Amino acid sequence: MKNISVIGAGTMGNGIAHVFAQHGYTVNLIDISQEALDRGLLTIEKNLDRLLVKERITAALKTATLGNINTFTSITEGVETADLVVEAATENESLKLDIFRQLDKAAPKKALLASNTSSISITRIASVTQRPEQVIGMHFMNPVPMMKLVEVIRGYTTADQTTSTVMELSKKLQKVPVAVNDYPGFVANRILMPMLNEAIETLYNGVAGVAEIDTVMKLGMAHPMGPLQLADFIGLDVCLSILKVMYDGFKNPKYAPCPLLVNMVQAGKLGLKSGMGFYDYSGHKKAEKVAAQFQ
Ligand code: NAD
Repeated sequence: MKNISVIGAGTMGNGIAHVFAQHGYTVNLIDISQEALDRGLLTIEKNLDRLLVKERITAALKTATLGNINTFTSITEGVETADLVVEAATENESLKLDIFRQLDKAAPKKALLASNTSSISITRIASVTQRPEQVIGMHFMNPVPMMKLVEVIRGYTTADQTTSTVMELSKKLQKVPVAVNDYPGFVANRILMPMLNEAIETLYNGVAGVAEIDTVMKLGMAHPMGPLQLADFIGLDVCLSILKVMYDGFKNPKYAPCPLLVNMVQAGKLGLKSGMGFYDYSGHKKAEKVAAQFQ
């Protein structure tokens, strides 16, 4: 494994590209939007600067990391030499299925195809390719350069060899991989999302206010961030879509999204990225402060 292609230069994609490039891999970062690529590269540089200030990397490593990243707006060109493709495009099933059909045609036959999806079935994604045994979930956590976990999702058809290669590769990135099976929400979101939903339900029922709920969970459970702030940070639209996948997949009312969450998403209050969620993030500085607190 030497050449890694990353699809999507957004929140997760630029973090994934950063981590591979910092560990010496050649990375082709691909996005349909040139603006997203420019923004992604800028974020990587800023995050490297932060690591440099904390003396976690040297100036030479920063230069080498940036030098390892090439950008593309075409999937076909960006994956033609890939040993592994990690897809981190927008969370939308039909979009991902379309991307995997393209990857299957354009990437070398031996290449492994991974998705960073938070909730979409890996088995379903694998089924649109001619190499389902080489398709796997590689679920990095946000922010990628800081978070140790990689949830490795074995689809129903994923070969053991594919799983062990991805587990070993994750260790080379100094991450801790955990292999899980492909069921709605996998492990991380199956446990996290009902907690966030319950915090929203607690607010909706008037049991306590936003600050009170977050303080109870931060100080009482030693969580680094309260559940409502974490939901804002993840994106309320993302939380809603993951809950819907679990609700549809299990047909169990315990995963039903709280009506307050549905209303907030419909009103465009998506959390940090829209400037307003359970907290007010209007003003760039405040948004950066929250992100830094989480890191
Ligand atoms: P994002 O919206 O920040 O970025 C998505 C990027 O994909 C955008 O830059 C967009 O231009 C690009 N894109 C869309 N269609 C494309 C295509 N056809 N080809 C190439 N690029 C395309 O999204 P994100 O938060 O980085 O999420 C990406 C994936 O990671 C999703 O599957 C999401 O569920 C998952 N994920 C997100 C988080 C999180 O906290 N945000 C955590 C874990 C996993």
